Amino acid sequence: DAGVTCTALGKTYPGGVAAVQSVTLQFAAGQTTALVGPSGCGKSTLLRLIAGLERPDSGTVRIAGLTPAQARRQGVISVAFQDPSLLPWLDAARNVALARKLARQPPDPQRVAQLLDLVGLQGFAATRPAAMSGGMRQRTAIARALVTAPQLLLLDEPFGAVDELTRRQLARDLPSLWQGATTVLVTHSVDEAVLLAHRIIVLSARPARIVADIAVPLSHPRS
Ligand code: ADP
Ligand code: ADP
Repeated sequence: DAGVTCTALGKTYPGGVAAVQSVTLQFAAGQTTALVGPSGCGKSTLLRLIAGLERPDSGTVRIAGLTPAQARRQGVISVAFQDPSLLPWLDAARNVALARKLARQPPDPQRVAQLLDLVGLQGFAATRPAAMSGGMRQRTAIARALVTAPQLLLLDEPFGAVDELTRRQLARDLPSLWQGATTVLVTHSVDEAVLLAHRIIVLSARPARIVADIAVPLSHPRS
């Protein structure tokens, strides 16, 4: 159970840009929530605050009662951000496998191979990032995020560089893999949000306020 509670969260960057201002939000355990909103409204910042990669100036984040730092240490959180940040000296399989090692989980080459297949990288297990397209790198990062079966999955435009056809296939195949995880998905694509999320939160221009909070109807395939 890794529900997320953000309370009165605020973050102003040096230079005075208020990226997030008094945001209070809860993400229910096991649900997928999509965050949509104009570019620069603070979506990535909100995700980084939840991930513990950024410190809030005010307010708190709790993940199943833990601080982000505690949750990270316990291997509860996985992230896949727009910039896949793979290790260049490791091939796809080793980049994915390394995530299990860092989370102190036993090696599981079968799961690594299965995930590479699912993201359409069968045959590229031994390929290094420099020899991949941007979309292939993002797909490796998605496999890496899922290989630890995280309780909290934070996805920031994870399909941005993935071609349209592959993106649709991923949208069809991946949710079964993160079923049970609390998932927060930042996306520009309303289509993607409707397809993947139980709940869609629409944010205003910076500093982000919630302008709509929509439950995706029960008849939806994700429900
Ligand atoms: P979004 O993900 O919705 O596009 P971001 O959270 O990336 O929005 O950015 C929100 C605002 O904060 C933008 O105005 C952006 O330029 C600014 N910003 C983001 N990261 C930094 C940073 N590291 N330093 C200074 N300003 C930043
Ligand atoms: P294997 O044990 O099968 O070689 P690893 O994932 O342990 O696979 O690592 C692959 C290679 O990358 C190894 O040579 C290892 O020493 C190197 N490596 C792994 N992680 C790091 C790291 N953080 N910094 C430098 N080298 C690393």
